[in-house]
Amino acid sequence: MTFAFYTSEEHFSHQTEDDHPEHAMRIMAIEQELKSRNLWEQLIHANGEEANLPDILRAHSKGYVEQLHLIQPKHGHIYVDEDTAMTPGSLKAALWSAGSCTTALDALTANKFSSAFVATRPPGHHAEHKKAMGFCFFNNVAISALRAADIHHYQRIAVLDFDAHQGNGTIDILGNDQRFLLLSSFQHPFYPYTHYQESKYTNLINVPLASGAGSATFRAAIEERWLPALKHFGPEIIIVSAGFDGHKDDPMAELNLTDDDYRWLGELIHKHTNPKRVPILSILEGGYNLNALGRSVSEYINGAK
Ligand SMILES: [Zn+2]
Repeated sequence: MTFAFYTSEEHFSHQTEDDHPEHAMRIMAIEQELKSRNLWEQLIHANGEEANLPDILRAHSKGYVEQLHLIQPKHGHIYVDEDTAMTPGSLKAALWSAGSCTTALDALTANKFSSAFVATRPPGHHAEHKKAMGFCFFNNVAISALRAADIHHYQRIAVLDFDAHQGNGTIDILGNDQRFLLLSSFQHPFYPYTHYQESKYTNLINVPLASGAGSATFRAAIEERWLPALKHFGPEIIIVSAGFDGHKDDPMAELNLTDDDYRWLGELIHKHTNPKRVPILSILEGGYNLNALGRSVSEYINGAK
């Protein structure tokens, strides 16, 4: 398997305060751990680009995008909700974050490699059609999935999300669109509390996990709920909201997953659920304990390779 790793320096423009959990050190911690394990040189390294407006507007309303540009501060920072800090460079970073994902998608579609991990920030899966929330402005995964459908003409796109928080934005944007199968696991009840219920969506499979759930519960639930649905759907491409805040050391959630669970996920998604070897695009979401994040991403990539 050929595996690409995407980054861009532009995430530094989203200069959140040192005490904000979503900060630039997250990407640096991932890179450092990959280097320390000699995984770094086994990856194909590529840079993202800035997203173009038509890609953003497949997932978000024009009014919302214009409003974000209007409220972006010239100095200091503002909060667009109780968690989501916006600085003078946040939208530039968010556009590069989304654009790194679509650039990786295009390269995957052109068979330049078989899998890609986009180490990007700000993350995206809480951003709804017209609402920024939970550290997210543009929904990187939904933007990539809609481009995969509209530009690359994939007809069956699986969107997997194993972040500890439900990807409300992704469901808001892609819910009830039969081109997409949405598979989500998350702590419940927990942020974002809206809890997008399976019964309201024809293309959503939820795996809610109680606070304290660990490896055995998580793996059994994924195998029972996700795998039959994936097999039945037969995706032509798989896009993953790869969030690592379910780790037992993570301060932002209360699940008890381990480094090895992320290796298991990497292997499961890339090998066991993918007999036809379709392209896989994994996009970073959460993960806020720097050591656990670096190790978990490394294990995920290790399991995939
Ligand atoms: Zn999360």
